[in-house]
Amino acid sequence: MDTNTNETVSRNFIEREIDKDLDEGRASEVVTRFPPEPNGYLHIGHAKSILLNYGLAQEFGGTFHVRFDDTNPSKEDVEYVESIKRDIAWLGADWQDHLYYASNYFDKMYECAVGLIKKGKAYVCDLTADEIREYRGTLDKPGKNSPYRDRSVEENLKLFEEMKDGVYEDGAKVLRAKIDMASPNINMRDPVLYRISRMTHHNTGDKWCIYPMYDFAHPIEDAIEGITHSICTLEFEDHRPVYDWVVSETGWEKPPRQIEFAKLYLKNVVTGKRYIKKLVEDGIVDGWDDPRLVTIAALRRRGFTPGAIRRFIELSGVSKANSESDYAMLEYCVREDLKLSRPRVYAILDPVKLVIDNYPDDQTEWFDVVNNVENESLGSRKVPFTKELYIERSDFMEEPPKKYFRLYPGNEVRLMNAYFVTCTDYEKDPAGNVTVIHCTYDPQTRSDLNFTGRKVKGTIQWVSAAHCGKVTARLYENVVVEDENGSIRDEEGNLNLNPSSLVTMDECRVEESLLEAKPYDSFQFVRNGYFAVDPKDSKEGQPVFNRVVGLKSSFKLT
Ligand code: ATP
Ligand code: MG
Repeated sequence: MDTNTNETVSRNFIEREIDKDLDEGRASEVVTRFPPEPNGYLHIGHAKSILLNYGLAQEFGGTFHVRFDDTNPSKEDVEYVESIKRDIAWLGADWQDHLYYASNYFDKMYECAVGLIKKGKAYVCDLTADEIREYRGTLDKPGKNSPYRDRSVEENLKLFEEMKDGVYEDGAKVLRAKIDMASPNINMRDPVLYRISRMTHHNTGDKWCIYPMYDFAHPIEDAIEGITHSICTLEFEDHRPVYDWVVSETGWEKPPRQIEFAKLYLKNVVTGKRYIKKLVEDGIVDGWDDPRLVTIAALRRRGFTPGAIRRFIELSGVSKANSESDYAMLEYCVREDLKLSRPRVYAILDPVKLVIDNYPDDQTEWFDVVNNVENESLGSRKVPFTKELYIERSDFMEEPPKKYFRLYPGNEVRLMNAYFVTCTDYEKDPAGNVTVIHCTYDPQTRSDLNFTGRKVKGTIQWVSAAHCGKVTARLYENVVVEDENGSIRDEEGNLNLNPSSLVTMDECRVEESLLEAKPYDSFQFVRNGYFAVDPKDSKEGQPVFNRVVGLKSSFKLT
């Protein structure tokens, strides 16, 4: 990650906490982790957690782990495991050989549970899930002790072993911590540690019919790996006492320390895994990597770069207070990243024929065109010019309004890097669509002749009809729209879907060399924005282009 800038960046509160832990001897090294649950694809919010944890490990010369928190097989899938690994690697967070699975610790967790029972700190409870909820009490009402709370250690050991051995039905019994049913923190009211559930696990198969609960498993996972700092999001703040109880009661010498930060939210963009999953399952989008989503896979497919995402995460900061970031800031970051690094090419999204009536029929001239005016190192290319061209339909008007400087009958414009042409006539089909525009050109206005005889106000792009490629380009908008109240949900909580979130342009004409573009290659299309080759729908020699982002920005970096 780019941490070598000269600017003095103020340290975030987590860095300051870690400084203190190191200075005051509470920690001698820094080991962090990203612990995804493999029940969906990662999204831009996860990128924040990944880059934060990875960045801290880098900064303090420590170690970064990736650990699959695969303790709930009912929602998990190997497809997700693979996608998550790919996304983390793509973001540049290198876990080296520190890739772990919580399910590999099931034996150790079982042993810890037995240890708690032996200490009289856990018991087997026969209450049903509903009864447990009822006994738990509420925020203003203390809970009641379970009638099974005072079972003997021997009985608990026997019952827990039988739970493991499959003697009882799913849900018939649970193992609970014996903490305090009157605790003001409901999470401390004898939380469930283990449940019986016959599920096949992607890693352990049918070995287990009991599975540990999150609040018990998570601290043990961290402790086993020697995680020094468990950096997590604010919703876990109320669970921290349970976390600390588990690590201390199960006797770890150097318990990890949990520090919470605020989640990244994007204003009026569907970010949560649950909601994205619903869009996928309802078929509203084309899979988890549909370019309209903000999963990492979707952003990659759309043509975002890891650098742009890292910059966005950096700009969004680390804080203890919830806030929302702007999608426009993410767009700003990718635009900044592509601006200097990608060639600017001619690509006509909605073409109309332009014929230069006084240009020789079978002549082709090759004009030198600079690839990126702001970055000389990208060099230049030769672009063919002929009598018949395609231009953008919006670059011509039959009856122009004031201040329209592009083509209209009688007007002269510059064809970018080529000649001045004057519109003489146009043809229409019976439906009234313009089909051909006729022009004449002035040979002495060729761009490399430094013609100064007269000026024109409009410059338009073009491609040679005889040399171009025909491709599909897709333009995207947010998958949801804000209603008049500024909300993306209606009164029933359903998403307000945007009917124009995907616009497909099938008749695009581009410079021929673009037909060779490979998946993820990206370009600036003159006036139309940045486009990248879709990795799924493109075929050899027949790329499909996704618009990454438009050229103009409403976002200003302050
Ligand atoms: P979601 O909130 O989308 O349902 P999750 O929290 O259930 O995601 P996990 O796989 O459990 O997904 O998350 C792995 C890690 O990513 C957790 O440590 C979690 O705190 C963090 N994380 C999840 N969403 C965000 C977010 N929006 N911003 C920052 N970190 C996040
Ligand atoms: Mg989760």
